[in-house]
Amino acid sequence: MTTISQNLDAIKARITQAAVHAGRDPETVQLVTVSKTISAEVIGQAIDAGVTVLGENYIQEARTKFEQLAPLPVSWHFIGHLQTNKAKYAVRQFDLIHTVDSSRLAAAINREAAKIDKVQSILMQVNISQEATKSGIETENVETLAREIAQMDHLELKGLMTMPPFFNAPDRVRPFFRQLREIRDHFQKMDLPGVNLAELSMGMTGDFEVAIAEGATFVRIGTAIFGER
Ligand SMILES: *Cc1c(COP(=O)(O)O)cnc(C)c1O
Repeated sequence: MTTISQNLDAIKARITQAAVHAGRDPETVQLVTVSKTISAEVIGQAIDAGVTVLGENYIQEARTKFEQLAPLPVSWHFIGHLQTNKAKYAVRQFDLIHTVDSSRLAAAINREAAKIDKVQSILMQVNISQEATKSGIETENVETLAREIAQMDHLELKGLMTMPPFFNAPDRVRPFFRQLREIRDHFQKMDLPGVNLAELSMGMTGDFEVAIAEGATFVRIGTAIFGER
């Protein structure tokens, strides 16, 4: 066995354990294997080891790898900051875009998806920590953006994503994960037409177990699978 497949097995076991511990069905937590800076060759090994979902942060880097790996049966998720002028490539390559945080970006993705007759699945990135430097929409603007997206025929909003302000500090990030879940629950109760925020993308190598305890349905893990970047 390669190190990657051992790492992957260990992560899958920890995901299952965290879900069971939280009283959740492990099948409701999906692993997004984060492959930024990792070569196509090494990603190929990860796919051989059983990876089915890849997360990439940069469009240009992802395009190169996508061309090299294109025939392989793997789903690509975009998890980085997306510039409006790159929406076209994001729509062509990615099954889920985790980081929609403005109506301008949503409109650009909608436009590009319409051109290729696709309904693009997206998550809305929420800035819970209120830091000016972080991407994500402020909590108080989530409803307005959700209503706008619901009017866009080529977008399907599936949930929320967040990046907490600290890494590798599970107890400090827990309140941020909890808040994202509470926002999700609030909107599920409001039942806005065309808005279903079932998915929660939160948790990375240092804190995914806490994220699962707080309701994550996607965990985005790179370092624990590929090693330090
Ligand atoms: C890099 C990255 C990850 C993975 O982080 P690790 O600590 O390597 O697991 C997850 N989400 C986003 C948005 C990232 O940029």
